[in-house]
Amino acid sequence: MTCYCDSKKEFSECCEPFLKNRSKPSTTEQLMRSRYSAYVLGDGYYIVKTTVKENRFEDDVELIEEYAKSVVWLGLEVLHVEDNIVEFKAYYKDNEGVKVQHERSNFIYENGEWFYNDGKLFSSKIERNELCPCKSGKKYKKCCEIKNL
Ligand SMILES: [Zn+2]
Ligand SMILES: [Zn+2]
Repeated sequence: MTCYCDSKKEFSECCEPFLKNRSKPSTTEQLMRSRYSAYVLGDGYYIVKTTVKENRFEDDVELIEEYAKSVVWLGLEVLHVEDNIVEFKAYYKDNEGVKVQHERSNFIYENGEWFYNDGKLFSSKIERNELCPCKSGKKYKKCCEIKNL
């Protein structure tokens, strides 16, 4: 099967080795992608484990899992990768409709491993003429935007 992170690679050759703890991501993009896949799979433990120690709280595992499972993850778009920064858009659907999380995450390299530090969120909207994040192949305005109204 293709990976959840929309890399178009096989899951077994993309995020699976990281999620199953068989290897560690060697780039920030790999880590970011695997964290997205963990959200899709509702794996809160992985999210907490790959967060930098100062921001890591074990009791977040349950909260993250609850949140991750309360929405439908539609896809990931990696926009920009630079040094310790990855900018991405993650698309999901909740009770209110289709939404986008546009974030510029920064990562820290510690003891030979990358960790998520924190992120800056942008208040981006889905453009009416862009292809719908639900992957219907239609424009957003002719697809989920209507359902969102
Ligand atoms: Zn992947
Ligand atoms: Zn749609």
